[in-house]
Amino acid sequence: MVLSKRAEKLEPSVTLAASAKAKALKDQGIDILSLTVGEPDFFTPENIRAAAFTAIEAGKASFYTPTAGIPELRKAITNYIKEFYGLSYDTNQVIVTDGAKFALYTLFQALLDEADEVIIPVPYWVSYAEQIRLAEGTPVFVEATQEADFKVTVSQLDAARTSKTKAIILNSPANPTGVIYTKDELLAIGEWAVANDIWIISDDIYGRLVYNGHEFTPIAALSDAIRKQTIIINGVSKTYAMTGWRIGFAVGDQRIIGAMIDIASQATSNPPAVSQYAAVEALTGNQDSIEVMRQAFEQRLNDLYPLIEAIPGFTLTKPQGAFYLFPNVREAIQLCGYQTIDEFVEGLLVEAHVAVVTGAGFGAPDYLRISYAADWHTLAEAAKRIHDFVENKRQNI
Ligand code: PMP
Ligand code: GLU
Repeated sequence: MVLSKRAEKLEPSVTLAASAKAKALKDQGIDILSLTVGEPDFFTPENIRAAAFTAIEAGKASFYTPTAGIPELRKAITNYIKEFYGLSYDTNQVIVTDGAKFALYTLFQALLDEADEVIIPVPYWVSYAEQIRLAEGTPVFVEATQEADFKVTVSQLDAARTSKTKAIILNSPANPTGVIYTKDELLAIGEWAVANDIWIISDDIYGRLVYNGHEFTPIAALSDAIRKQTIIINGVSKTYAMTGWRIGFAVGDQRIIGAMIDIASQATSNPPAVSQYAAVEALTGNQDSIEVMRQAFEQRLNDLYPLIEAIPGFTLTKPQGAFYLFPNVREAIQLCGYQTIDEFVEGLLVEAHVAVVTGAGFGAPDYLRISYAADWHTLAEAAKRIHDFVENKRQNI
């Protein structure tokens, strides 16, 4: 045995794997339309890029920063949370991390002991379960069915609760379903968590990407007791088109944040200095461009949704936020003569040259995920190719 058991057991990220595979085929000259990885297709706004250049020229990007982040960014984050959540935190309740992904990673490392359980509503974002396992915790899955609008209820959560339940992860708007929990639903879950001494991990990364009049409610804002028991996870990747800069953050209980800082001090030292200066500008500078991007996503959602819904064997719930469609394709898999979602997704890639992500990685093997963070020409052409693929396959069966 060369590798650790941990490494042997690890499932790599299916979203990143699908995107890498699509890119490799593209590099071979094949005309692949990739709707895989969830990242805005826009350039980072100009004022943010300019702030990064300024930081580099001023020599600020040359050096380590405090592990928890530069003071001006921690301050900008508390101001941002004050503005959008209506909540006041001290700057020492904030850690800046290498993407929200690493905020979650250090949080699980700080919170979990062996066999501690974390409840995850299914479908879930691909990294939650693996990060929990890396911290030797146990993910406990609770099914949020399409019939229930991809939401879990308190009675389901209570049935999954044990003496080992340490935390629950909420992600609203959700990746991959785009569903948003209402205030009342969140309040019920929050009160249940408080009553049972369960930490709430609120992954709010898509909180600003909401469409067609739907609103994001931050669970932390629903009562003081809920706030005290919630760790907010957020970042600039999605809202500001900054996935490559790798800046996320966590906000909440000072002891937990302190432990996360200690862990990060031994793991990465600090997030990239240049990215932190760019993130200060993102959070404090002109905000006009983010509404322009939000509106573009909304338009694409509204235009793409009917095209995907019209594909034979696809059943779809209209998302309210994030930038994914998550159709149930159970019937289409059968119509095309396949057995599994992975075969269907592979067929789409190899024959229709459209790359999407299998729902299996999200705990939902009847589904596939389409990211609509792409230009309209690509989306329309991809929808047509998927439609034609299913039509042709079913006629040939
Ligand atoms: N949470 C969810 C639900 C996500 O989709 C992503 C996207 N990768 C992240 C967290 C992490 O984002 P990042 O690390 O780019 O900040
Ligand atoms: N959150 C994005 C996605 O779901 C980025 C990829 C990843 O970090 O796994 O596609």
